[in-house]
Amino acid sequence: MAEYDYDLFVVGAGSGGVRAARVASELGARVAVAEMERLGGTCVNVGCIPKKLFVYGSHFAYDLEDARGYGWSTEPSFDWATLRTNKDREIARLNSIYGSLLEQAGVELWNGPAKLLDAHTVDVGGSRRSAKRILVATGGKAIVPDIPGSEHALTSNAVFSLSELPERMMVVGAGYVALELGSVLCALGVEVTLIHRGEEILRGFDRDLRCHLHDELEAKGMRIVLETQVEALCKTDSAFEAQLDNGEVLETDFPVFAIGREPNTEGLGLEEIGVELGQRGGIVVDDDFTSSVPSVHAVGDVIDHIQLTPVAIAEGMHFAHHFYGRGEHRIDYASIPTAVFCQPELATVGLTEEEAWHRCQDVRVYKSVFTPLKLTLSERKEHTIVKLVVDASDDRVVGCHMAGHGAAEIIQGLAVAMKAGATKAQFDATLGVHPTSAEEFVTLR
Ligand code: FAD
Ligand code: NDP
Repeated sequence: MAEYDYDLFVVGAGSGGVRAARVASELGARVAVAEMERLGGTCVNVGCIPKKLFVYGSHFAYDLEDARGYGWSTEPSFDWATLRTNKDREIARLNSIYGSLLEQAGVELWNGPAKLLDAHTVDVGGSRRSAKRILVATGGKAIVPDIPGSEHALTSNAVFSLSELPERMMVVGAGYVALELGSVLCALGVEVTLIHRGEEILRGFDRDLRCHLHDELEAKGMRIVLETQVEALCKTDSAFEAQLDNGEVLETDFPVFAIGREPNTEGLGLEEIGVELGQRGGIVVDDDFTSSVPSVHAVGDVIDHIQLTPVAIAEGMHFAHHFYGRGEHRIDYASIPTAVFCQPELATVGLTEEEAWHRCQDVRVYKSVFTPLKLTLSERKEHTIVKLVVDASDDRVVGCHMAGHGAAEIIQGLAVAMKAGATKAQFDATLGVHPTSAEEFVTLR
């Protein structure tokens, strides 16, 4: 008779939890996972995937405009309900694939909210199950501001379930979510006003790209208000009014706050059983994702480290291989490539120019701003920027940055070159694929 019902009980079937559960089960562990909403978590249901589908959908507004310069005459019309319904259908298909993958891997699924009762016991909707180890992979949730009228504040989730497009959107914040969802609605004809407390959008990214994107977003019609905060929100008969600290009262139909996400640890019973939480409520873990309670582990957004799907997946893999395999999967957090799918999209890997000047003795910077060939026959004005940051002491490329069409696809490839330690001389020795935007990276002088 086994001491516990399972070797591993995973709480949360999102990116990190599903990967850990499947791999641990395939390595021979008896595994169960509890999920209180839909399988796949944030990424599949209200994050990466539906967002990217909306990005594709909205980009046709620009593609159709470009098509005219190529001789196509089109009378475009757009139906939000079609995009939303088709998106919902695809997400339902993915939910079911996640279910099949767990089943095929031999993972038992429990539907409902889970709570830890002690270091080895989980309650799911009144049923108690025991496990040698418990992995908490409950992700995060959007932060809502603490201002009068905050009950009217919406989050990114609202965009995915919109029944019809609003006329005016106010989006607060200037990070990933604000720029991506603001860009989507802007392309679809919504009047978007972005309110940001800082002096420029996208803090933490390379300065040249931040300024470049700012100009490009404004050129597309987004209004960007910097160094401004929303002090209060109130509902009127037909809309909402945001009181800004610059004195303006902004009327809007759709007030969305994208001011970051916090770890989902409330109500899980963690502190009661002695699991240490950080300042923002994230579970504190060691390098192998073990919390202050040795049988309780955590991966993904709930540890409040880097909130990206590939990171949550890599952490789930590391956890499973460490405890149920031979520990062969390690995570290298250095130089994680990332993209902001605003329009035009921005992608980056490695150090910004500002970071490089702090870390390296001498730095060489190469950049180019150009009109992509595709847009030369189109009336539409959009520029691409590519930038390489090089450590002058050994010629190694330490940062690759791009904002423009295809940036994310291009930077993924360059991330491999950077991981392999490529030098600027090796970039220069690489022949370009002509004519592309990507070739700019090997012709920068
Ligand atoms: P999640 O995927 O959030 O999964 C947690 C799961 O736990 C959820 O299913 C939840 O229902 C469940 N759960 C919570 N509490 C309980 C409980 N008590 N009992 C049972 N189940 C519970 N990242 C990218 O890399 N690329 C992108 O393009 C991208 N786009 C994004 C767009 C948006 C709008 C947002 C919000 C995020 C985006 N992200 C993106 C971030 C990415 O979605 C997250 O980093 C990733 O999903 C984290 O995975 P996770 O496994 O830690 O948590
Ligand atoms: P981000 O951390 O990216 O951006 C938050 C923004 O809100 C910043 O501009 C920040 O300003 C501002 N802000 C923070 N607190 C306040 C406040 N109290 N009042 C006003 N403004 C505030 O968070 P997001 O919500 O956009 O996204 C959460 C995370 O999800 C991202 O960090 C990313 O890891 C992940 N994600 C990834 C995506 C991708 O990979 N493409 C897409 C979407 C999300 P300041 O700069 O001054 O701090």
